[in-house]
Amino acid sequence: MRAASGSASGPHVFSSNPLDRVGGSRGDEAWLRSRIDDPRGRYLPFRELKPGVRADEGVRLGWLDRETVGPLAAHPETVLLGVLDDVPHFALHADGVEAAAFDALEYRDARGVAMDLAATEAGMLAQGRSMLEWHATNRFCPQCGSATTPIEGGARRLCAGCAARSYPRVSPSMIVLVEREDRCLLARRRNGPPNRFSCLAGYLETGESIEDAVVREVFEESGVRVDEVRYHSSQPWPFPATLMIGCFAQATAWDIQVDGTEIAEARWVTRDEARRALEGTNPDLAVPDRIAIAHHLIRAWIDEGDA
Ligand SMILES: [Zn+2]
Repeated sequence: MRAASGSASGPHVFSSNPLDRVGGSRGDEAWLRSRIDDPRGRYLPFRELKPGVRADEGVRLGWLDRETVGPLAAHPETVLLGVLDDVPHFALHADGVEAAAFDALEYRDARGVAMDLAATEAGMLAQGRSMLEWHATNRFCPQCGSATTPIEGGARRLCAGCAARSYPRVSPSMIVLVEREDRCLLARRRNGPPNRFSCLAGYLETGESIEDAVVREVFEESGVRVDEVRYHSSQPWPFPATLMIGCFAQATAWDIQVDGTEIAEARWVTRDEARRALEGTNPDLAVPDRIAIAHHLIRAWIDEGDA
């Protein structure tokens, strides 16, 4: 039996968001107003979708307090992420904001900084980045083209023309550790570094189950037929709003025929080769680091062989 998320491989980066998203309360205008007015509120500024951080004693998110952000607290594009220990947490756009407290923060690429943050902070960062990008790219109604405005503390947008609501989108993507006997299938992307191999992955298509997507993508990219698809764990990936769905699958044959467009090369790898790759001591094989769910799928497969 394979372990799910929170197993020996630990929860994935971006997956430990402690906030209560307060879905049942945020539609209440008076309640929302009281949260915006709460002097204990914490506000995470972003510039060009990069979070503000403090890097003096270790790296942590650069939360600003209610007094510092002033009228930006009530700006319609400021998003209520959720509540933790009765304290509301928000994300806001700080592009063009000229104030010493904002300028005092460093604005770092979310992917680059994630591994340096506490797990809970990385989770809140993921939600904030995805939400701000969604708002920035959904200013007009997909049905009638009129302007839309945030409602419910930024959980939705409402069209001024036809009253249609739009909802933040999540794009599901499957990623799969394909195994056969004592080997797993890893692939190198066409535009990737020479020795860099990873699990096969791809976005789900409309009307497709996770299992269907695994079977289709693996065959399209590697020519390998698989069955026995099983879920392992998932990871939010906020670039901009993907959900990585980690699976295992069994190959029914060894033959590989890569597509040559997305995938340049695929190979069957032993546990020993994979273990040395994870440790960084395999000159012929490099694999993704701990920020990526692929790393943890490979780790889980090695651990299973040791069990
Ligand atoms: Zn509309």
